[in-house]
Amino acid sequence: MARKYLIETYGCQMNVHDSERMAGLLEQAGFEATSDAADADLVVINTCSVRERAEEKLYTRLGELRMLAAEQGRDPIVAVAGCVAQQEGAQILKRAPGVADVIVGTQQIRRLPMLVERASAERRGAVIDLDPFDDVTWPLGVTRRADPVKAYVTIIEGCNEFCSFCVVPYTRGHERMRPKADILAEVRDAAATGHREVQLLGQIVNHYDAPDAPGCDFTGLLEAIHEVEGIDRIRFASPHPRHVDDRFLATMARLPKICRHLHLPVQSGSTRVLEAMRRRYSRESYLDLVARIRGALPEVALSTDMIVGFPGETDADFEETLSLTAAVRYHSMFSFKYSPRPNTLADKRLPDGVPEEEKTRRIVALQALQRDIQSGLNETLVGQTVDVLVDAASRRRETELSGRTSTNVVVNLPGPIAWIGRTLPVRVEPWNASNRCARARSDNPGPVSDTSIAATAPSRRPVMRTWSRLGSRDSRPSSACTALRARLSSTCSICAGSARNADRLSNARVSMRMPVSISRRNISSIPATISFRLMSLGWRTCLRLKVSS
Ligand code: SF4
Repeated sequence: MARKYLIETYGCQMNVHDSERMAGLLEQAGFEATSDAADADLVVINTCSVRERAEEKLYTRLGELRMLAAEQGRDPIVAVAGCVAQQEGAQILKRAPGVADVIVGTQQIRRLPMLVERASAERRGAVIDLDPFDDVTWPLGVTRRADPVKAYVTIIEGCNEFCSFCVVPYTRGHERMRPKADILAEVRDAAATGHREVQLLGQIVNHYDAPDAPGCDFTGLLEAIHEVEGIDRIRFASPHPRHVDDRFLATMARLPKICRHLHLPVQSGSTRVLEAMRRRYSRESYLDLVARIRGALPEVALSTDMIVGFPGETDADFEETLSLTAAVRYHSMFSFKYSPRPNTLADKRLPDGVPEEEKTRRIVALQALQRDIQSGLNETLVGQTVDVLVDAASRRRETELSGRTSTNVVVNLPGPIAWIGRTLPVRVEPWNASNRCARARSDNPGPVSDTSIAATAPSRRPVMRTWSRLGSRDSRPSSACTALRARLSSTCSICAGSARNADRLSNARVSMRMPVSISRRNISSIPATISFRLMSLGWRTCLRLKVSS
């Protein structure tokens, strides 16, 4: 019987793509995928160290895996990959002794299957490979792409910028360009396997300079990819503000497959803080650039990254971050509280002096402002018909699909699975409580916008689904819900009715996802197994409970 592997991924799109590559390598070596750690012979944790909290997740997860192994009497191989592996190396074995068998750095993932075999054969002490020297070519056809519509394609690895807060140059190494021929071969392969969108990845994509095609920069690469038949959309992450030039903007405006979205990390609105961050642009030059972008591409959506509480950031500096945010009006923003990262210049030279509660106050204020901006921008979509590339079943509701506009707004709409991979015209309608069949939302981090969408695409399936609350400690359940609750057994197929979870279940506020509306009339026809989401426990997973007949 084939051995099973599970890869758990934290962090950015680069990590997601590295996981796709590791999955391909493991399947070549005879492993089969599983989604359950309890069933896996190999668990790979692909880690992120860009923030302290992301790094802590690794140690929490290693502790959980140790408990799972003890409870089940199984001992899977555990491999730690990614940025924390590269950064911490053998320290991981000291902080979480006896769990990890393999530690593989960011530039040695190609060797993962071999390291796993060695660890399986020896089973004493961990096998560690953190060699930082890797060439950036990748064999065609090995990557196991998790997404049927969107294909990640790496064009650059590493970074030479050494922004003072950033750990990436230490974990991903110096900047290395992938050959243009290699990139184009992968894009054609993605198109041939049905992927409609490519997303080009690199720490600074617009620093690209083809090692095998003199004179071909990022703009030239975009032009070449635009010619590939079968690819409808091209995205990239992330350009650096310092390298955005007018030729690039004119090319973006000219080529329709390039999505109307630019992720333009700014990090702070204060020139003083930007200097301390070693970003090499000022507030003024960034705002000038935004004006030039909007001149060349009036319909473009901008998103950004922002850090609050950087060492030395004063109230006045933070006010400049707020005013820059208000001036640019980003469609979305990834915002973080500063935390010192090992080896970085800021960690070595700049005391982390902004108190934690002040960082919290600032991030709350920034996110509130961004939410307002985002909601306002989403409202402007109402009444418009937008092209949506449907890319997945919705994570928010069963029987709904999810897709993105060219400007990277996420849209949920009702429709059949067969629509995945198609670009559909979708009309945006005002939010209406009785018309909850679909809605649009912008990306991280704001809440869902109260804007609903109706698809004008052909023959859509009626939505036969509702959420019904079965009642809680704080609210009176409806009579239909009381009748249904009486039919529930307390046995959960996941926790197998453990006393602790049964107790938590009986106290939990429960919402139910049903294929039909509940009423006294149809209650006897409710299916024997239904999915529940335990709202008050914050569990994301839908547990399956049995309904007694
Ligand atoms: S440009 Fe700066 S923030 Fe971006 S990866 Fe390089 S060092 Fe990090």
